[in-house]
Amino acid sequence: MADKYDRNLIVIGAGSAGLVTSYIAAALKANVTLVESHKMGGDCLNYGCVPSKSLIRSARACADMRGAERFGINPVEPEFEFSRIMQRVREIITTIEPHDSVERYTSLGVECIQGKAVITSPHKINIDERELSSRRIVIATGARPFVPPIKGLDQISALTSDTIWDLEQLPQRLTILGGGPIGCELAQCFARFGSQVTVVEMAPTIMIKDDHDAADIVRQSLERDGVKILIGHRAAEVKVNDGQNRLVCDTDQGQTETGFDQLLVAVGRKANTDGLGLEALGVKLNPNGTVETNKRLQTSVPGIYACGDVAGPYQFTHTASHQAWYASVNGLFDRFKSFKVDYSAIPWVTYTEPEVAQVGLTEAMAAERNLDIEVTMYKLAELDRALTESSTEGFVKVITAKGKDKILGATIVGAHAGEMITEFTLAMKHGLGLNKILSTIHPYPTWMEANKFAAGVWKREHAPAWALTLLEKFHRWQR
Ligand SMILES: Cc1cc2nc3c(=O)[nH]c(=O)nc-3n(C[C@H](O)[C@H](O)[C@H](O)COP(=O)(O)OP(=O)(O)OC[C@H]3O[C@@H](n4cnc5c(N)ncnc54)[C@H](O)[C@@H]3O)c2cc1C
Repeated sequence: MADKYDRNLIVIGAGSAGLVTSYIAAALKANVTLVESHKMGGDCLNYGCVPSKSLIRSARACADMRGAERFGINPVEPEFEFSRIMQRVREIITTIEPHDSVERYTSLGVECIQGKAVITSPHKINIDERELSSRRIVIATGARPFVPPIKGLDQISALTSDTIWDLEQLPQRLTILGGGPIGCELAQCFARFGSQVTVVEMAPTIMIKDDHDAADIVRQSLERDGVKILIGHRAAEVKVNDGQNRLVCDTDQGQTETGFDQLLVAVGRKANTDGLGLEALGVKLNPNGTVETNKRLQTSVPGIYACGDVAGPYQFTHTASHQAWYASVNGLFDRFKSFKVDYSAIPWVTYTEPEVAQVGLTEAMAAERNLDIEVTMYKLAELDRALTESSTEGFVKVITAKGKDKILGATIVGAHAGEMITEFTLAMKHGLGLNKILSTIHPYPTWMEANKFAAGVWKREHAPAWALTLLEKFHRWQR
């Protein structure tokens, strides 16, 4: 018999990835220990999804009040104390906290330990002076905001997604470095609260990873909210003179300067691998700093797995928990069987107004891969439900394999895009084509009907001409 260990699984990090990994292990009756050095719930609960979506709701209330005219109601300028809005955000975190708490996980059968774990061998970790052993270890230590080395940045206390939630006063002028999803969501929020927001993005567009038409709509929407967007701007230096802060950027046309009171750095997230003992063990990292894993989430050191933001390639809560199933099951059963992670239909959503939701390929990704595709578009301006809600901005775009109804990707921009995308995710995951969506009853009048109507557009474009000519002749003969 091989070596014996105290546990089946040790999971390091109690964010979405670690919580779900340990939950699954406990549900499968394994002896599992979860180690967390900071806050249970990790980034999603404390600094990510939960606070940002809570803040977005308050910002939308402001926008709705100002834009009430479109509902036939006199518009009003919202009155609020910013600190009260931030208090609401913290209250929501507190309300959700029990879902991710030590008490809940202990009751589920997970041993929870507070402390910083260092991996000392493929089967051992240290927490302070204590040594624990386990047959398998899962690294789920997440990621943190990446702060680039910009000259002069150390003169100010720049905000990140870790610290912005502590703000008590609304910044008058907020500059946001980075026009990705986090930057765009927060830019819209703060502009709607009344800050003068500038987004600085070095790429030629914001939301570079998303569908270009979708990013364009978001850009227009942010600009309507008063956000100034500087694309093709690379931050070069922070200058502080007489208490005045300025961000100097390099552009193709020379340098620009933007004054600000607060600077939020939102240029990406770096995997938390420092101080874990990975180098000594020979656990390899990818060039972007994430832990290298194979398709079964095993690292370069057998016995050690990784999942969630620390492993990538995606950095979302739902991909962290999706991977967690594989990390847990493979970690527990790999001596008998293990599974490759299914990345065939990964959705993601940016919660701006309008929302942008994506699953599978965008047009640009399909072009990069030289795929022979067709693009079908249905505009929400034609959807009855969107018209009743005076919210017609956006579209459903579906990428299909040429001549087939097989869905390769979908982009939805609109009021409820994040909810609507799941129909395409389900279809892609289970191999259902547009014909199946078209033949499914969607209640009237719902936003989801737009998905069916997009399938209808595709169907009309693929109606066989010879059959229609024959039908025309048949009906003429029938008259
Ligand atoms: C502003 C913002 C908004 C976001 N919005 C969304 C969204 O709307 N939807 C979405 O899907 N995703 C969103 N995300 C991303 C999402 O938060 C992350 O993808 C998710 O939290 C990753 O989970 P994780 O478990 O991999 O890592 P984390 O949540 O970071 O958890 C890792 C945990 O490991 C702990 N840890 C680290 N090192 C050690 C150690 N040595 N010992 C013990 N514990 C350790 C950390 O303290 C942390 O609690 C957002 C992120 C941000 C910043």
